[in-house]
Amino acid sequence: MVQQGQIDHLLQETGQIMPPTALVQQAFLQDHEGEYKRSIENPEIFWENVAKELDWAKPWDKVFEWTYPTFKWFLGAKCNITDNALDRHLTNGNKNKAAFIFLGEDGSERVYTYGRLAQSVNRFANGLKSLGVKKGDRVVIYMPLSPEGAIAMLACARIGAVHSVVYAGFSVGSLRGRIEDAQARVVITADVGYRRGNEVDLKGICDETVKDMDLVEKVVVWSRKGAPENPSAKDVDFNQLMAESSIHCPAEEMDSEDPLYILYTSGTTGIPKGVQHVHGGYMVGTYYHFKTFWDVKDDDVFWCTSDIGWVVGHSYIVYAPLVAGSTTVFREGAIDYPDPSVFYEIIEKYGVNVMFTSPTLLRMLMRYGEDYALPYDLTSLRFLTCAGEPLNPEALKWTYEFICGNGEWGHIVDNWWQTETGGPCLGTPATIPVRPGRVGVALPGAELAIVDREGQPITEPNKGGLLVITRPFPHFYRTVFGDPERQAKDWNAVPGVYLTGDVALRDADGYYMVVGRADDVLNVAGHRIGSAEVESALVSNSAVAEAAVIGKPDELRGEIIKAFVTLRMGQVPSEEMEAALKLHVRGELGPIAVPAELEFMPTLPKTRSGKIMRRLLKANELGLDPGDITTLED
Ligand code: AMP
Repeated sequence: MVQQGQIDHLLQETGQIMPPTALVQQAFLQDHEGEYKRSIENPEIFWENVAKELDWAKPWDKVFEWTYPTFKWFLGAKCNITDNALDRHLTNGNKNKAAFIFLGEDGSERVYTYGRLAQSVNRFANGLKSLGVKKGDRVVIYMPLSPEGAIAMLACARIGAVHSVVYAGFSVGSLRGRIEDAQARVVITADVGYRRGNEVDLKGICDETVKDMDLVEKVVVWSRKGAPENPSAKDVDFNQLMAESSIHCPAEEMDSEDPLYILYTSGTTGIPKGVQHVHGGYMVGTYYHFKTFWDVKDDDVFWCTSDIGWVVGHSYIVYAPLVAGSTTVFREGAIDYPDPSVFYEIIEKYGVNVMFTSPTLLRMLMRYGEDYALPYDLTSLRFLTCAGEPLNPEALKWTYEFICGNGEWGHIVDNWWQTETGGPCLGTPATIPVRPGRVGVALPGAELAIVDREGQPITEPNKGGLLVITRPFPHFYRTVFGDPERQAKDWNAVPGVYLTGDVALRDADGYYMVVGRADDVLNVAGHRIGSAEVESALVSNSAVAEAAVIGKPDELRGEIIKAFVTLRMGQVPSEEMEAALKLHVRGELGPIAVPAELEFMPTLPKTRSGKIMRRLLKANELGLDPGDITTLED
């Protein structure tokens, strides 16, 4: 949660960085202001014009319909996102162009052309059909970042099945919850993932998860280490399924509002919400921003360092770059393994032109120091973009100097969005100055406001408030899977607008600063984790009576998790107990949710109504007056 001190610190930054002239001159979108105005004054014509650049099996009868808080885009249209991501490129000259350049942590490389990718997707799509997967069925994908992971996603989309990717760093509890919530009968996984030279036993986690789940009928396993020794009765071999299936699989004709995927994300309750995106509008909006904000050209090489487990990976590793016909690099594993040079080596070797990465990664590189960067020729890198958490001015300036050559060849900008928005809403376009500490301005299509808790607009510059979205754009999420009430709640918490959960302010020139969450959601290294989820995981251990979790500022990861735990009678605090509880959270939720710090307390501070006062715990922890942090939170 945000503290006023953080805002004051950031506001001290006043300088700006001008974009390099060469970057501005070649930018696809020359007049950002004019474009923004058009998108807001007449959104329907604006988005319709973008949609016309893509292929549709049947055009729309109506562009937009809003029955608050639900809405539809491109009503009556028929399409399939894979027709635009794959088929379109088989006849437009891109067939032999590299779609994916996949790099393994061990230095291996695999290239998929559009032609080969389309074949593979079709094969796997037919394979899924042979397992009885049909339009509308949910399929859980628990795969490492790999072409096979992306192929699994695209194959589901191809046949109209709804994929739900579960990040391969999550563990049994998270995976089980997501399979159950989506009622998925098929799970796709791999034997292992690789990270820091170690094997992550994905199959073991998956077996443990599904062993008592009658719901799951088939587990498709991509075996990277050779044939499995003891396949279970539910197992189906990924490679064999591919080999036995035909390369022809026409795309299922979808309604533009039919679901494409569900992606679970943390909210303020202990149960993650299944954010649902659709084929039509999502395709239009994510493609638009790829072309206009990321400014990726036909012969550019684009590198996104996210993972298919997050929305950034969905939109900007898999879908939008393919719809746009680009070449995308992605790499499994840790970016500083085997050593931090690998980051620079990849830019040089593949001539990367445009990047999408995170502040945590840049801070890590900054910590290793510029000596790793200097030996490499990074001059291909024109535009480096960052999202996921606030980009602190120090990391921005270091990156600008040492990775972007002080603007001689490159430039760095921030952008803000979330799982629900599908694509960016705020950012600094290539043609306008960067203001360190500010994420940038509203991007085309995004109508935003800053309001107080009653929903009253805050128009005074530099005054913090709740960041809200006032009108949905085509790539905005439609519903929460199985729980439409939760979607309505997002739009009704402050009446008439969608509450993002973030605190922001805007300066007199329209530049926004996003300071952090206004709720109990944590942001660890750009990953959204609900404090309630971690608390539930802790309390599910029989030794624990109560738990409270807070975020604590951290130089590298933005925030780390600190847990306060009260043990049950008869249980004694000890280092072993601490280790056991951390291991328990790891087993339930996965490594990213493990508290970095855990403190035992005889009791937790509570309000008279029995609510745990996390705010007080946080104030004590940070040495603040509790009054300081009450202004911006519940
Ligand atoms: P997720 O839905 O997992 O992508 O997380 C979205 C959340 O990450 C947002 O609600 C913000 O709290 C945070 N976030 C994303 N991008 C930025 C950014 N550029 N600056 C500050 N916070 C960000």
